[in-house]
Amino acid sequence: MLYGERNKQRLHHARGLAIGIGQKKHQLEIPKYKLNKLSMPSEAAKGLIESLLLDEGNSRMNMATFCQTHMEKAATELMAETLDKNAIDKSEYPQTAELENRCVNILADLWHAPKEGEYLGTSTVGSSEACMLAGMAMKFRWRNQAREMGIDVETLKPRPNLVISSAYQVCWEKFCVYWDVELRTVPVTKDKLSLDLDHVLDYVDDHTIGIVGIQGTTYSGDYDNIKGLNALVEEYNRTHTDRPQLVIHIDGACGGMLTPFTEPELQWDFRLPNVVSISTSGHKYGLTYPGVGWIIWRDREYLPEELIFEVSYLGGEMPTMAINFSRSASQIVGQYYNFLRLGWEGYKLTHLKTQENASMIGDAIAESGLFDMYNQGKRTPIVCYTLKKDAKYSDGTPVVWNLYDLSDRLQMHGWQVPAYPLPEGAEDVTVQRIVCRADLTFTLTEAFINDFQQCLEDLKEAHILCNEKKSGRYGFTY
Ligand SMILES: *Cc1c(COP(=O)(O)O)cnc(C)c1O
Repeated sequence: MLYGERNKQRLHHARGLAIGIGQKKHQLEIPKYKLNKLSMPSEAAKGLIESLLLDEGNSRMNMATFCQTHMEKAATELMAETLDKNAIDKSEYPQTAELENRCVNILADLWHAPKEGEYLGTSTVGSSEACMLAGMAMKFRWRNQAREMGIDVETLKPRPNLVISSAYQVCWEKFCVYWDVELRTVPVTKDKLSLDLDHVLDYVDDHTIGIVGIQGTTYSGDYDNIKGLNALVEEYNRTHTDRPQLVIHIDGACGGMLTPFTEPELQWDFRLPNVVSISTSGHKYGLTYPGVGWIIWRDREYLPEELIFEVSYLGGEMPTMAINFSRSASQIVGQYYNFLRLGWEGYKLTHLKTQENASMIGDAIAESGLFDMYNQGKRTPIVCYTLKKDAKYSDGTPVVWNLYDLSDRLQMHGWQVPAYPLPEGAEDVTVQRIVCRADLTFTLTEAFINDFQQCLEDLKEAHILCNEKKSGRYGFTY
């Protein structure tokens, strides 16, 4: 916008020279809209791209994401060495396939898959793909059962439906749009940001393919009460034998690889008989770089045959149920590295350390007296809060700024902390959320708390505010 086409080229020219690309004109162009005619030296291309990417947030100071932003050097090297392996090519890479199987076994064990059952699972690109698979399995199973019971499933009027709290992650909305399912959301309330067990069954009918329980919501990190939900579903199935069996899928993107270590006694997994599948993101608290996810069904029975496809494997056949076909196996290798390297104790210590740092941040924010805390980082390493109504500093100065202003201030110190409205049922409340991850060291935690407190002081004196009327989504909301 600022530069005319000519000037823009001159600017690129200058940048090219600055990093030492040769003098010929054709080598100085940085392609934006079409390919250059000729190649450039690899070092030059790398340097150019590196400098282009410099102007981005520092991933470790990104408090908005659940996604892993740091792995050990050995892991990174191992993953770089295995980038060429194609995860789907099981006959070319049988050992890689074996690593994937081991990961599935380990997760099935962590989630207490019943010994007498025949669990099944697969790696995916992330929880989104895993949730798609879970949703499809529920839909196909519901349809097979409903058809047998003489329920009309052909006219799609009404459509099959899926029940979930309004604090769902966007992948469930995608699932429902892609596969023509009605998304039935149970609104959360200002006081309770998880699935409302008093009302959830009001949303269920004979066209319900299943209920999704969220083990750690994206909004606030709250856990749904899965044990309570299981009891409701148990009773429902006992009293509605004329309907397809109601089942539960657990979206464990956040908690699937956290809860087994931080609260091993908590029953949210296959210990509950109506939980038929669980998905998680290996790249969240599974501690692997994006993108890897996992899904496991407690028994073959819950993954209809139609969704299992055979690929050739060492002259034989191997079942596959993922949506994607080719992708690098390096994330699976990275996941297995973590399992091998950390073991149960390692995961536990890592998560407890993260939890401690989150709790320190939560306490410091609560102590300021300006916020109502939704999550103080005690149970999940997530801190979530809203600005108090008529908040006042300890000397009586009223707060005139809002959480979007605070986000901007934190950004000036390099920290990305999103502010956003809560979902349906509590949409008039704006919150801020801090996701703590394993690479948030104690030193970084202290630095964050100092900066946060400084921001509160700075805002107290600030005269120019620009977010006063801002509404709607802002920043990172995933
Ligand atoms: C992050 C998240 C997802 C999506 O996970 P990806 O691995 O990013 O695809 C789904 N559900 C919940 C609850 C999440 O937090």
